[in-house]
Amino acid sequence: MMTPRERFLAGIRRRPVDCVPVGSPTSVATVEQMQRTGAWFPDVHQHGEAMAVLAAGAHDILGYDAVMPVFSVVQEAAALGCEMSWGKADTMPDALTHPWRDPDAVTISSTFLDLPPIRAVLDAIRRLKRSHGDRVAIIGKVMGPWTLSYHMHGIQDFLADTLLEPERVRGFIDRLTHVPLLFGRAQVEAGADVLCLADHATGDLVRGTMYRDFLLPAHRELTRALPVPVVLHICGDTLDRIGFIAQAGFAAFHFDSKVDAKAAVEAAGADLALVGNVNNPELLLRGSPERVSEAVRYAAVAGVRVVGPECAVPLQTPTANLQAIVSAVRCTSRTFA
Ligand SMILES: [Zn+2]
Repeated sequence: MMTPRERFLAGIRRRPVDCVPVGSPTSVATVEQMQRTGAWFPDVHQHGEAMAVLAAGAHDILGYDAVMPVFSVVQEAAALGCEMSWGKADTMPDALTHPWRDPDAVTISSTFLDLPPIRAVLDAIRRLKRSHGDRVAIIGKVMGPWTLSYHMHGIQDFLADTLLEPERVRGFIDRLTHVPLLFGRAQVEAGADVLCLADHATGDLVRGTMYRDFLLPAHRELTRALPVPVVLHICGDTLDRIGFIAQAGFAAFHFDSKVDAKAAVEAAGADLALVGNVNNPELLLRGSPERVSEAVRYAAVAGVRVVGPECAVPLQTPTANLQAIVSAVRCTSRTFA
């Protein structure tokens, strides 16, 4: 019998497993887990101890093979100077301002790793490594240069620039690629076994060829420089770019239920593991454990190596539906190699 950590890492590396691993590179925090653990949004986003306590719920309450403490997508944006709304117990934080007009404005403070939203993540990973690291996989998470440009420059301006001012887009990407490199390396030093790179070049906003032309070189640089397996997260319909993602050197791709699991596995080819694929709004939030189990089995049979929610789960998601992912692939039921 493998430990959860061995199982999760084998899944990410496309190696044989004793049963299908379950985990998520994006947040699985919910209000029900806040009630059970006593660690609450928004306090957790800037305090490592509370962050670690809530993140441990992914294993201790849900039974997943991995934990991931970075619940928001704006830790870096806050540290880089956006004004923030940290939200309430049942809302995600948000960046309110987008202060950088131009790539020349990009400045990364020499104290970046010590700023509270960044230090909290590193502290949480260290704590989780101590409390769970011998048995459970620890996933870190960083934002890629595309997502950081949305936050720091503004999503509409940035998308307009892809058409009108492509050199400005390249300037932002070049300079901002340093942030996930710096933060990612620090998370690995703190104890992360795997890193999630979230870079929201989603199908509804960006064509697959734009991923290839603007982002693929930066992603290749990151996967080469970061010393652990990197899992890319992009939500939405990404089928037209999975082939390019495979070329960027990622160990795995965390993908949305808008992409059929069989089509995704075919597009990923021999070297890219697929992760996720269980629908959030219809199945995990509003569905039943039975319907969740069906979707999990479909994904696993299609060849998805690690099953889990497709993206950060809605905060009101019932615990029973999140646990149903594990029950559907219990080791006694089947083997997967
Ligand atoms: Zn997402």
